[in-house]
Amino acid sequence: MMKFDILTLFPKIFDDVLSESIIGRAQKNNLIEINPIDIRKFSDNKHKKVDDYPYGGGGGMVMTPQPIFDAYLSITRNLSYKPKLIYLSPQGKVLDQKKVRELSKENHLVLLCGHYEGIDERVIEEIVDEEISIGDYVLTGGELPAMVLIDSISRLVPGVLSSEEAYKSESHYDGLLEYPQYTRPYEFCGKKVPDILLSGHHANIQEWKRQQSLKRTMEKRPDLLK
Ligand code: SAM
Repeated sequence: MMKFDILTLFPKIFDDVLSESIIGRAQKNNLIEINPIDIRKFSDNKHKKVDDYPYGGGGGMVMTPQPIFDAYLSITRNLSYKPKLIYLSPQGKVLDQKKVRELSKENHLVLLCGHYEGIDERVIEEIVDEEISIGDYVLTGGELPAMVLIDSISRLVPGVLSSEEAYKSESHYDGLLEYPQYTRPYEFCGKKVPDILLSGHHANIQEWKRQQSLKRTMEKRPDLLK
């Protein structure tokens, strides 16, 4: 069982996307739990304000530390352990499958989503264990990156994928891209499925898949072979 608590100003964003398909099924089967927490509810301000102008000028708004800190305490107050807190940030280490695999070994993750110009540095220093980026570009908020993290980690939690959906031959699992896939019909736009896949010869098929993986990786992502 993997639990994700998400600290966010926009908790509703998560409902639709994560309640469908494989991730929705995993929640129903109690293999994962996804719990968005509305930072705004913890604001001490009488207007429930959660952002303010940056000291020293510069455009935009910065998320204030108090509501984030209290939302975090609401999670940890009754725990006997400290769950790892990840801040989704363009300044973090860029996510890859190795990191996804490492994080899938945890039982409880807290994901902090920034918005606007980001978050007051002092609360980051106080509660964040690790910063993760989903790529070298900037988004308006940490909510999409949090969903990317939850989706990629959840599919490695035992039982989430059925054996047919197994991830072990998939791209990036062993540093290679996956071989090409074919399904019915046998012929499409004049192109037939490679004969070897219909041969029933398991060892030859495995060898073909391996060769194709190497070829693809060489063509599409030679950097992965280095
Ligand atoms: N001012 C910040 C900076 O320059 O580093 C960028 C703030 S960004 C506009 C707002 C929020 O979106 C961030 O606090 C972070 O949570 C999220 N975010 C934006 N790009 C991201 C990325 N590539 N990976 C993860 N989170 C990202």
